[in-house]
Amino acid sequence: MTAVTVTLDSRPDGVPDNTAAADFLATDLAGPLALAASATAGDVDRALRATRRSLDDLGALLSPAAADRLEDLAVAAHAASVRRFGRVVRLFAPLYLSNECVSTCTYCGFSAGNEIARRTLSPAEVAAEARTLTDRGFRHLLLVAGEHARIVSKDYLVDCVTALAATVPSISLETQVWDTATYRRLVEAGCEGLVVYQEVYNRSTYAAVHLKGKKRNYDWRLAAPDRGAEAGMRSLTLGALLGLEPDWRSDVVALAAHASALLRRWWRCDVAVSVPRMRPAAGDFEPARPVTDREYVQILCALRLVLPDVGITLSTRESAAFRDAACKLGVTQMSAGSQTEPGGYSEPGEAEPQFEVSDTRSPAEVAAALRAAGYEPVWKDTIGARSRS
Ligand code: SF4
Repeated sequence: MTAVTVTLDSRPDGVPDNTAAADFLATDLAGPLALAASATAGDVDRALRATRRSLDDLGALLSPAAADRLEDLAVAAHAASVRRFGRVVRLFAPLYLSNECVSTCTYCGFSAGNEIARRTLSPAEVAAEARTLTDRGFRHLLLVAGEHARIVSKDYLVDCVTALAATVPSISLETQVWDTATYRRLVEAGCEGLVVYQEVYNRSTYAAVHLKGKKRNYDWRLAAPDRGAEAGMRSLTLGALLGLEPDWRSDVVALAAHASALLRRWWRCDVAVSVPRMRPAAGDFEPARPVTDREYVQILCALRLVLPDVGITLSTRESAAFRDAACKLGVTQMSAGSQTEPGGYSEPGEAEPQFEVSDTRSPAEVAAALRAAGYEPVWKDTIGARSRS
């Protein structure tokens, strides 16, 4: 009798041609990575003086030699940010739909093996959470969920977006990655933004932290922003979770290369990047190499200088003091008053959060701090591609 092979995951291997994912994989990062490890003071000077900066310049600006020039990086990043984005920071809130997940990711509180209180909001409960957030001023919500194709299904997500579309002007999505047809349904329901964290770009580290589930498929995830853009998503955010990869410089270089490829391929879209540092979560994962505050400032400045048209998101994982300072270094959007558990705004304490928040101020307090720093808080996602004409 002939053995029959049953393929449980039908996703194709590799990434399609003519995508930003393919462009990224074809990018030779050896030069930028060598500079990130051992740029000279002259390389750093050249990168700081350049008017248009390359990935080689990014390598130089991330190098240990550039760490000695942090003040110069901060001054240049501030000037570049004000020139391109003005003194404006967009505020948004994550709205957790579900913490159900069948994947095992070593660093995440929602990981399938963790014994935690699980909850999935009904579309009516999602609408109630959204009302709480719009009452607090938010007009841009990010819907977040774990990976559970039956409980957090395509239909469920479409229902959630539909429930909010009339009252929430800007809806983005951060869930498991989907095919183009599903993204198209979500766009038609009223979703305009897609957030996909590759988490870590080094393939062997990726395999070591994503133990089970669909998220193990690196290439399928890498090409998700292309599928979202093809489906009509207006804004695309990429992310890397700092602390997974021992060599954080290589991850930041890869993230920037992916964002650059996305900007070239999907130039009508708003592109943003996010580089959160790891925070404590259920499962007690220890970061391979925590990123220090000084290193984090260097990363934010380098990204701002090399990707002048790309938004930079900063989450409530960072402390209030750090966030107040970071808006001057090129950060363009921030979450505020975040709860990372489903139902956390109306009924806190009913389910496990994904991670501990560090900046626990209310949205009004965050907005007041931004104003005190000379920045205007904007509650709707209105800046970006349209102003990049
Ligand atoms: S990172 Fe996402 S897929 Fe992985 S365990 Fe957490 S919620 Fe699930």
